[in-house]
Amino acid sequence: MKHLIRNGRVIDPSQRIDARLNVLLEDGKVLCLTAETPPADLTTDAGGLVVCPGFIDLHAHEDPLVNGKRYKDPDRANLACLLRMGVTTCLAGNCGDNFGDPTAFLDEIERDGCFVNVAMLAGYTWFRERFSKADRYGAASASEIEAIGHAVTAALDAGCAGVSFGLEYIPGMSREELSAAARCCSAGGKLIAAHIRACAEGAPAAAAEVLEAGKEASVPVQLSHIGSMAAYGQMEALLTLVDRFRAEGMDACCDCYPYAAFSTRIGSAPYDDLEAMHCSYADIELCEGSYRGQRCTREIFEAERKAHPDYLTVGHVMREDEIRLAYRHPNVTVGSDCFLFDGKGHPRAAGAFPRFLAKLAPESGLSLNEALFRITALPAMRLGLSQKGSLCPGADADLVLFDPEEILDCATFAEPTLPPKGIRAVFLAGEPAVLDGKIVNGRLGKPIRYPAD
Ligand SMILES: [Zn+2]
Repeated sequence: MKHLIRNGRVIDPSQRIDARLNVLLEDGKVLCLTAETPPADLTTDAGGLVVCPGFIDLHAHEDPLVNGKRYKDPDRANLACLLRMGVTTCLAGNCGDNFGDPTAFLDEIERDGCFVNVAMLAGYTWFRERFSKADRYGAASASEIEAIGHAVTAALDAGCAGVSFGLEYIPGMSREELSAAARCCSAGGKLIAAHIRACAEGAPAAAAEVLEAGKEASVPVQLSHIGSMAAYGQMEALLTLVDRFRAEGMDACCDCYPYAAFSTRIGSAPYDDLEAMHCSYADIELCEGSYRGQRCTREIFEAERKAHPDYLTVGHVMREDEIRLAYRHPNVTVGSDCFLFDGKGHPRAAGAFPRFLAKLAPESGLSLNEALFRITALPAMRLGLSQKGSLCPGADADLVLFDPEEILDCATFAEPTLPPKGIRAVFLAGEPAVLDGKIVNGRLGKPIRYPAD
């Protein structure tokens, strides 16, 4: 069946196209971009909206499986929020976290479909918890490191895109353990993605540690959510470091979410030292429980940390000028870091991409074309996906139709799942997934296994 999307402002940064054109789709693929009006079985009038490739989120988290159910409330799931803001493909399993076996999740998507297309990282912490007796402050033994490595390699062989680390959450993980895990990626062009060991003053050295490990193992490195690591005055130093490694031939890139507030669980290791995070109790907002929506006092923080270590919090401490500095760097893309639990958490899950397009990209001096390049062609290259992030003939027909004047993030810290304005339609493989801001089909997403096309 041929589907013509006519009368759109077609922007495809991969081909440097920004023009009034029609897009012809067939069998889930882009057939052509044309100024003509070829015959089609179905015609959609884009009415001057921007028509562009679907957005690609390099820093996502899959939804947890609770009591055998993946989505307690499908409308408030992480990946549903991604879809409503125009994301059609994501890389999940970041920060060392997996909610279950990552390859089993790919199988589940194969069977049931998903809101978006999903590539998976093997979350190192998930494997470490299974194959080492060491807790997060302890060192794994040589034989345990070997056992973790075998399991991680099996996950990579079964189609994971690489390995993710949450080094700040496992202070006991040594440089040797990191290097051993990075070496698992050496064969087969897999990448390592790292939430580095320290933020603020510690961020440049922590980034260097991962870049060195990646260089030694000859693997690409993705530095995760660099805003929450270095937007305290260290962004320039961190980006200079990335440039230095790139100049030496290394494939090093970064992602960043467009907010000046981070999110983590109240019991997590980073909160062991609030001073190092430039954080006072009053900077920390609770996202769950009886203090939801309130800032902490020392008493509340200590009591909730002990009683409910899994509760999500938001820390309002980063510098927005440092986030803008990050986006001025050509190798920084947007990663949502969607991490909602039962719809509670940080609004980045439902707002990151519209907020980038509406606010942070223009404030950082990026044109609409450059901003779209950062969230389509650039992350597709990063993932080695030649069929995605582009409207070239033969590309997967994953598209977004949006109004560049209207686009706006609506999700707030009080209501983190509110859908954005301006995203009129999202298509996956040519099929409508979102129409007028509402999900009409949440099962169109497919697993992306590596090696990919
Ligand atoms: Zn992280």
